[in-house]
Amino acid sequence: KGFEEFNLRNELIESIRGTGYSEPTEVQSMAIPIALAGSDLVVRSKTGSGKTAAYLIPIINNTAKEKGIRALILLPTRELAVQVAKVSEALGKRSGIRTVVVYGGVSINKQIELILRGANIIVGTPGRTLDLIDRGILNFDKVSYFVLDEADEMLDMGFIEDIKKIINVLPVERQSFLFSATIPSEIIELAKGFMHNEEILFL
Ligand code: AMP
Repeated sequence: KGFEEFNLRNELIESIRGTGYSEPTEVQSMAIPIALAGSDLVVRSKTGSGKTAAYLIPIINNTAKEKGIRALILLPTRELAVQVAKVSEALGKRSGIRTVVVYGGVSINKQIELILRGANIIVGTPGRTLDLIDRGILNFDKVSYFVLDEADEMLDMGFIEDIKKIINVLPVERQSFLFSATIPSEIIELAKGFMHNEEILFL
């Protein structure tokens, strides 16, 4: 079965074809319908499983052509953030979605300029994201999707306090997705603090 089974917007189907995916991977088959149905989601899944598209496809499908920052995706490293932003650009282009990636260790000015030009999906690392919130550049009032990817790595790298501060400025009315290669008890605790009626998939 192909991606047609999810009833996605045509231009998104075209973008998916354009990236060369012909069939959904296991995590995509399981997570996409649940996400499209409106549930929060905790997924245990490794890199290489296709998890990036598993959360980007529902987000892009449901926010296409809408104005403002509609989704925030947090990752632990610059490399991962850049990688996810590339997939978001490829899948979102035909849907009019603008993705901006933000991470530390480089000048903030160019990132500010891109955000001010209009962003719909922000992919970022926690420290720089928080910095941009504190500067009044990132406004998450319209965010309806929040993704915490590589959540176990995030905790290992000590990002927990930054993540909690960021979640605090997100609208309460939103969908949240947590992806992690391992789900230790700390992850369950964290998830309980910001998710509602979440479905849990152990793949
Ligand atoms: P990820 O686990 O999201 O890092 O994806 C791992 C790799 O799988 C990436 O190179 C993707 O481009 C690729 N990929 C994701 N979904 C599919 C799919 N449905 N069919 C073929 N390749 C895919």
